[in-house]
Amino acid sequence: MHTLAVDIGGTKVAVGVCDENDTIVRSWTVPTENDADRINETIAGLYEKALESFDDIAAIGVSAAGNVKQDRRTVNFSANIPAWINYDLSGHIEDLLSKKVPVVVENDANCAGWGEYVHGAGKGSTNMVMLTVGTGLGGAIVLNGELYRGSFGMAAELGHLPMVPDGDTCGCGLRGCAERYVSGSALERFAKAAIRRRPKDATRLMELCNGNVEDLRGPMISRAAQEGDVLGLYAFNKIGEWLGRTMAAISAVLDPDLYVIGGGVIAVGDILLEPARQAYDRFLQASAYRPHAQIVAAQAGQDAGMIGAANLSVR
Ligand SMILES: [Zn+2]
Repeated sequence: MHTLAVDIGGTKVAVGVCDENDTIVRSWTVPTENDADRINETIAGLYEKALESFDDIAAIGVSAAGNVKQDRRTVNFSANIPAWINYDLSGHIEDLLSKKVPVVVENDANCAGWGEYVHGAGKGSTNMVMLTVGTGLGGAIVLNGELYRGSFGMAAELGHLPMVPDGDTCGCGLRGCAERYVSGSALERFAKAAIRRRPKDATRLMELCNGNVEDLRGPMISRAAQEGDVLGLYAFNKIGEWLGRTMAAISAVLDPDLYVIGGGVIAVGDILLEPARQAYDRFLQASAYRPHAQIVAAQAGQDAGMIGAANLSVR
């Protein structure tokens, strides 16, 4: 038996045929516009292509950026694709398939979290929280070994935990959300502010962005921090501290045994995780009198979302 994993990204659709162990054995990537019909046609087309080599595809698992209903078919809302408002994504795709199989849709952060849980750093944990530090901050919750979706499919929007009353305005329209302080965008904002305040210490960062602060990007800050640059480290300390505060708040509700931190910035490892662990210890309620959750880097890599979508499609 095989499954087809689909990852609908901002500019492309990636598809992978997975075997029984959720290992991707064949994959294709196709650029697309943010148009619902084109995306459906692209997925259906790639499914037909996969059928030419694999005649035993049992289900299609779709990882989608948006709020996905408890039915695992309907997208309530997506910031990326305007047509996805109470949109039966499964139904629209299923209608286009020559050989019918179920299409199971899951939120992208949930897929990545589940991929980490079954095949990555989460193995062996009972209650795991995954935080994906990318452009924004994604969350996934596993409770008692099961993905927790909430009553309406809206759980684990951890990037929108309100951390600062009347704080920075978030892309979601609310203010002070965690992802305004823990994300690749926050990393860039903290570094840029530090450059303006401390130009004498900014030599290396300015070199990396060719003298134009507006061109400064996360990977440049990661590189500077790994070289020991003081402002690069400062920016990571800032998002690390906010990450620790955010986890302490989550622990007050869920008391997990493990936090898995993923996303592009985790390439710096302990440069992010150490300040996060310290802040977690400091802000955790009854910190000295309770076991602390482990805080570790993700292991399943870039394909965690696909692996998770594949696994969830037949569960
Ligand atoms: Zn928000």
